[in-house]
Amino acid sequence: MTITRFAPAPTGRLHVGNIRTALHNWLFTRKLGGRFLLRLDDTDAERSNEDYVEAIRADLAWLGLDIDGEERQSERFHRYEAAFARLRDAGRIYPAYETAQELELKRKILLGRGKPPIYDRAALDLTKQHIADFEAEGRTPHWRFKLDHDAPIEWDDLIRGPQHFDPALLSDPVIRREDGSWLYMLPSAVDDAEMGVTHVVRGEDHVTNTGLQLQMFDAMGVAAPTFAHEALLVGSEGKLSKRLGSLGVEVFREQGIEPMAVVSLLARIGTSDPVEPFTDVAPLIESFDFARFGRALARFDSEELAALNAKIVHQLDFAVVTDRLPDGMGAEGWEAIRPNLATVAEAADWWHVVEGPVDSVDFDKETAAFLDQAAGHAAELDWSDAAWKNLTGQLKEQTGRKGKALFLPLRQALTGRDHGPEMAALLPLIGKDRAIARLKRAP
Ligand code: GLU
Repeated sequence: MTITRFAPAPTGRLHVGNIRTALHNWLFTRKLGGRFLLRLDDTDAERSNEDYVEAIRADLAWLGLDIDGEERQSERFHRYEAAFARLRDAGRIYPAYETAQELELKRKILLGRGKPPIYDRAALDLTKQHIADFEAEGRTPHWRFKLDHDAPIEWDDLIRGPQHFDPALLSDPVIRREDGSWLYMLPSAVDDAEMGVTHVVRGEDHVTNTGLQLQMFDAMGVAAPTFAHEALLVGSEGKLSKRLGSLGVEVFREQGIEPMAVVSLLARIGTSDPVEPFTDVAPLIESFDFARFGRALARFDSEELAALNAKIVHQLDFAVVTDRLPDGMGAEGWEAIRPNLATVAEAADWWHVVEGPVDSVDFDKETAAFLDQAAGHAAELDWSDAAWKNLTGQLKEQTGRKGKALFLPLRQALTGRDHGPEMAALLPLIGKDRAIARLKRAP
């Protein structure tokens, strides 16, 4: 069975980049019929916050990304201790006592000589006496995972294809700090192994971590999951922007963006499939395929999202939006107004135009006379069918007006505006009495 996980640290709200990773995990899992887990990477007690945990759950729910289970790293410290003890006993984890400054100096020296700043493993040469001296000084060690330099790192990435790393060109990663706290690397590998995660889908900023973690899986004697590293998301200006880091569900909601607009866009940007306005997620699940993902940075454009949102709003059924519409606005009102909306919230504004009062417009004498004539016709009209067509048809015949000269003053008098939904759909909603009053310019 396919098992995936989305693993945010609850140290902030989800941003559009995280959301995209969550979505791809979810789409992939729903296509294959497996389990999608939310794993909260909350080992850092100080920076993790319950409000963010709630916000992450709420954001996923708003997007429609239902989860099949939730795990918290803060409840699993005993598992990390156990793995740590086993790997240490097997000689795959070792203590190191360098201070941050000492390590920085080593890096600078290597870089100065034009060499890659790989950790020199000096800690492996410490004698019992050295260690006793450090301990006597009150130093506690941090801990490194010892890479096996003889085991080439290789995997077949679902997006990037075959990957190779020479472990000798990588530093043994620090997995635990002096104060005993955990870095991300080992707990994540332990969780993936123990939770039976079959596929890890994450950003390409984790590619090197994957190389290191593959050796951890191996050292723990467990099979590694399959990996898919997606190209990172950038702003329309082509850079990893700060703006994207603070763009999330909260902002989308404020802007009146529908969840399916976010889902439709993020599912497809950076892939060879076209971005299309979907109101239902099924076709996105159906068509999901890592083989369609490109290696180039994926570009997120707020204007593209807004345009996609409008196209989705134009397709939404009355039943879906009824809770969000103003009192009194029924299915006919929604269908008449929907084609003019960029967001569902704007429906209230147009409904206001239907119910009035509308803004008054100054007309010249001749146009005012024309509108009086229109009011007369409106009073005689059969309102049960094609009211707008009949009204304008009669006026055209009698006045010789056509095109803009015919339609614009009517629209202005009836709605107070120059543009808007089709008058044929709007006029029956405005209704006979209000229409006559507006044509007579009687508020
Ligand atoms: N908490 C890690 C992150 O947000 C998880 C990475 C992973 O998916 O393994 O970067």
